[in-house]
Amino acid sequence: MRINRYLAGMNKAYLFAEIANKVADYVKEQPPREIIRLGIGDVTRPLTPHVAQAFADSALKMGTPEGFHGYPPYEGYDFLLDAIIKNEYAPLGVTLGRDEIFVSDGAKSDTGNIQELLSADAKIAVTDPVYPVYVDSNAMVGRLGGKTEGGYERLTTLPCTAENGFMPALPENAPDAVYLCSPNNPTGTAFTYAQLKTIVDWAKAHGTLIIYDSAYKAYITEKDVPHSIFEIEGARDCAVECCSFSKNAGFTGVRCAYTVIPRELSAELDGRLVRLNDLWRRRSESRSNGVSFPVQCAAAASLDEIGRRETQGLVNGYLANARVIREGLTKAGIACYGGVNSPYVWLKTPGKLSSWEFFDALLRRAQVVGTPGAGFGAAGEGYFRLTAFNSPEKTAEAVERIVKAF
Ligand code: PLP
Repeated sequence: MRINRYLAGMNKAYLFAEIANKVADYVKEQPPREIIRLGIGDVTRPLTPHVAQAFADSALKMGTPEGFHGYPPYEGYDFLLDAIIKNEYAPLGVTLGRDEIFVSDGAKSDTGNIQELLSADAKIAVTDPVYPVYVDSNAMVGRLGGKTEGGYERLTTLPCTAENGFMPALPENAPDAVYLCSPNNPTGTAFTYAQLKTIVDWAKAHGTLIIYDSAYKAYITEKDVPHSIFEIEGARDCAVECCSFSKNAGFTGVRCAYTVIPRELSAELDGRLVRLNDLWRRRSESRSNGVSFPVQCAAAASLDEIGRRETQGLVNGYLANARVIREGLTKAGIACYGGVNSPYVWLKTPGKLSSWEFFDALLRRAQVVGTPGAGFGAAGEGYFRLTAFNSPEKTAEAVERIVKAF
């Protein structure tokens, strides 16, 4: 048996395990007060009543002869596709057809699987720091070659730091595909219309595919930040967009997401033009039997008028926490980024501490847990991520403690 050497060669996903170990060791030393966790990447508030009701009603329907549903359509039920078109895209002035949307169980699966559209030797670029799924999914199939110190032989990383305003320099030697995430995890920053236009123009000029992760689009509050890459002229020729119900409607445990692949998006292969939409449909039909009826009903409920009002309430609650973190720490002289269009605040570690030194200092001096920026890539060194997913009370207390301690 010959097994996948690239999969076998992957590092352990050590970041959160290492954090958990460090916290567990510290707890053994009996810290002076309760530890507050601002490292949480999962939502914490329950499904809204309207969404939970739709979920329950549709589950009960499945137990009746007339309401039973077997295998769903591979790409999603029309009622959900229509709700996405009407409520997520039409208000932006973006027109989509049902056949351009693919419903799935998560943006993690979609952003991890989308590399199957690409040739085995396609060149990949990611921003640094980065959501690790983009790198790992390419590394596991051998596309990135062997490991180097801190990276891979065939991976281009585009640093995004305070110095460049979190806007990557776009390489002349363009990759086949670049992964972008806006609003960004982990930096909490978001591209403006002008910045995204620059990237779309570059991608079109170089024949680069943009894989655009907008799992956090519901957090956008600023007018000059686009909610979809398809608001940018030309994006239909060079981009796919991965969206999720996880962070707006609290679906991290329910599981529903969707990816948009425009009909125009195509590439030349052996002298003919191949549509990526057709490839993805072909792939989905072989790899998945779709997303369950109750989950899609719940997702559709989150998009109707009541659902939107309620889920916006969830998002606003997290945004209020983000603001408490950002404003509290900024007042204390700590440089903070993000947190305005995002549940993540990305801070520059005070006193030039490394990301992990700050982690230890924060734990011991403030009994607060966050995530070291270096865990998201080399350009994250010297930064630190705090998240807005804890309760308002705990978030405020954590900020007070940090301000006192630093
Ligand atoms: N994309 C980004 C940037 C994320 O941070 C996350 C989750 O943390 C996901 C995708 C995963 O989304 P889903 O829950 O839909 O799989």
